[in-house]
Amino acid sequence: MNEFKFKKKYGQNFIKDENLINKIVNSAEISKESLVIEIGPGMGALTTKILDKCKHGIIYEIDTELKDFLEQKLKKYDNYELIFQDFLTADIKEITKKYNYKELLIVANLPYYITTPIIKKIIEEDILADKIVIMIQKEVADRFSAKVNTKDYSSLTVFLNYHYEIKKLFNVSKNMFYPKPDVDSSVILMSKKTEKENIKDINVFNKFVKDCFKYKRKNLRNNLKEYDLEKIELILKKYNLSLNSRAENLPLSVFIEISNSISI
Ligand code: SAM
Repeated sequence: MNEFKFKKKYGQNFIKDENLINKIVNSAEISKESLVIEIGPGMGALTTKILDKCKHGIIYEIDTELKDFLEQKLKKYDNYELIFQDFLTADIKEITKKYNYKELLIVANLPYYITTPIIKKIIEEDILADKIVIMIQKEVADRFSAKVNTKDYSSLTVFLNYHYEIKKLFNVSKNMFYPKPDVDSSVILMSKKTEKENIKDINVFNKFVKDCFKYKRKNLRNNLKEYDLEKIELILKKYNLSLNSRAENLPLSVFIEISNSISI
């Protein structure tokens, strides 16, 4: 694989540190009952350790130039499916139906250029793995785990918080990769919430949250012109909030309470 040319357009920064590889894979607590999806195996740094531990692996790689190398590297395993496809176009619900497993995990050193689209896909397509361990750009990790009343708090944070408990596990220096990227990384753990607040109508909730954040710098009164503002104001008041507040000031529970009150 000497002549392999790393492709920046595919976010190819491969891990070169064995301890880091073990640390990531161990964080996922993979068992012989786990079905693991890996996005972007690259040269298989995480893949062999995942396959050692899991029941089945479904591995998505976009770069077909890695095919021969990966097939060779994984030849001793019989518990995986290696698919050369853009993960964003994959039908995960369909493929996971083929397998018997107790828990679905996603483990990946994600290509940074599509971190947010991948997370959106997982939420919007309702893939909702039991646990997700991903290495992502440090700044993006901060956004995903942003707390209410901070500038990083966004509609995606609210949707993520509804489904997952999000924990930043550790930071990773850019020196751990080849080729070296421009930014540092973090590994985060997202664990599916077992007890969720009741949402009457998920479509109303999704639309309401998106509308609240429509123009981030505008207050709720301006972003929610088409809604029954009196009704919303009554709920906001209970929490010392008002129509002059911005979406970033509302915790998940308030988004849910308001969207439930406007759902029929
Ligand atoms: N897992 C390897 C490691 O940690 O050394 C490689 C990680 S590298 C940051 C990202 C990998 O994702 C690359 O192998 C890249 O080719 C692959 N990739 C990029 N875009 C992809 C996509 N849309 N679908 C699937 N794989 C993709």
